[in-house]
Amino acid sequence: MSANLYDLLSRRFPADRSKPCFLLSDGRAISYGELEAGAGQVAGRLIAEGVEPGDRVALQAEKTAEAIMVYLGVLKAGAVFLPLNSAYTAAEVDYFLGDAEPKVLVTDPPAWVAEAAGYAPLETTVARAADDLASLIYTSGTTGRSKGAMLSHGNLAENALALHAAWGFTPDDVLLHALPIFHVHGLFVALHCALLSGCPMVWLPKFADAEVLAGLDRATVMMGVPTFYTRLLDNPGFTRAKAENVRLFVCGSAPLLPSTFAEFEDRTGQRILERYGMSEAVIITTNPLDGDRIAGSVGYPLPGVDLRIGGGEETGVIQIKGPSVFREYWRMPEKTAEEFTADGFFITGDVGRRDPDGRVWISGRAKDLIISGGYNVYPKEVELVLDELPGVTESAVIGVPHKDFGEGVVAVVIGRGDEAAMIAKAREQLAAYKAPKRIVFVDELPRNAMGKVQKNLLRQAYERLFET
Ligand code: AMP
Repeated sequence: MSANLYDLLSRRFPADRSKPCFLLSDGRAISYGELEAGAGQVAGRLIAEGVEPGDRVALQAEKTAEAIMVYLGVLKAGAVFLPLNSAYTAAEVDYFLGDAEPKVLVTDPPAWVAEAAGYAPLETTVARAADDLASLIYTSGTTGRSKGAMLSHGNLAENALALHAAWGFTPDDVLLHALPIFHVHGLFVALHCALLSGCPMVWLPKFADAEVLAGLDRATVMMGVPTFYTRLLDNPGFTRAKAENVRLFVCGSAPLLPSTFAEFEDRTGQRILERYGMSEAVIITTNPLDGDRIAGSVGYPLPGVDLRIGGGEETGVIQIKGPSVFREYWRMPEKTAEEFTADGFFITGDVGRRDPDGRVWISGRAKDLIISGGYNVYPKEVELVLDELPGVTESAVIGVPHKDFGEGVVAVVIGRGDEAAMIAKAREQLAAYKAPKRIVFVDELPRNAMGKVQKNLLRQAYERLFET
């Protein structure tokens, strides 16, 4: 039997195909029947244009329902979907096109889908094996060349089924979808949960306060990155009543601050469910739907995921093996070899630890580890202390060159305060080598589209701080 992900998803579409899939802000709805017809036409056109199984089809476009028709049509045709960040410049896109060599690039899905209606739709999905490539996802790559994580039909199907079960999705749900669709969070995690349930999505091109607040009245589940939640909390219109219809708020892609978790619970009476994932494995761990959701912890590995801490210490780099873990990086055999252990575990690059009952805590990225005077400093440990000090909204701790220590600990802080007094306060809780030697106050931290603080940019900005 074919393991094409498209078949798994479309088998779960509602029997009544007139049911809505996309609820648009202008009041229109696009049904499951229209989605299915669009995907069939896209697949028909791709095949007519000579696309063969395994060929890549790239999409760089604004978020529309038609973009999802293109995604599903690519799967249906047995081709490989390559989403590109809509903010990439022409020069950046050139790199991806040169590396992945897609046969087709779609930049205007509504027009492309409309034209596809002129082709004979593909009736029968092209058969694929579980190991066959379904999608190529380039990692955000803050250092070196961006790598293409190769995700198979089996990887995506297994993860989608596990999440659908873990988060208790049913056909009665309505998912608020305000995430970008060039990243695994919006494209796979959120979308697949909805499609497997055959439920509608409040489909927003991006996070806009007014539209999200209106959407919450219809939604039962919201998925977001931490900045979605801080933006909601900054809005006085986000009240307990606004959140009442929603049974589940899910958060991931970057660490959720314990203060955000607490403020959200105060405001709504609900606990955000935090989960942890990455392009190379989609979702790895999640807090429980029923059971304790704990601030600062990313919960337990999904069923079938083997998770261990490398290095023999309590805290170390998280390694994983499991049904959703990618097999290799596109055309980078040396990188692939470097990032897998001899016994087949993927070295995530995230540093963390596990409780005796298996619960996972993440303390940062290995490459963000600071080595100051020969001692290891985990930025997260310092950030947690600083975030509790009066005047601090959020902090990002980095290491920058220092002539005596190799690296000196620097805190870049959203907030205001007296630098020396704040360092002294931090010293009360932290060993001298961990406490920041300098604190820089800023209004905001640089973040990428998924809300991740771009520490590489901070390290660049402050690399000469200790030279004066
Ligand atoms: P990406 O491949 O762009 O999805 O980035 C994956 C990375 O995001 C992971 O390796 C983690 O460093 C980070 N990440 C995702 N979810 C979380 C989370 N809940 N807490 C902390 N870091 C996270």
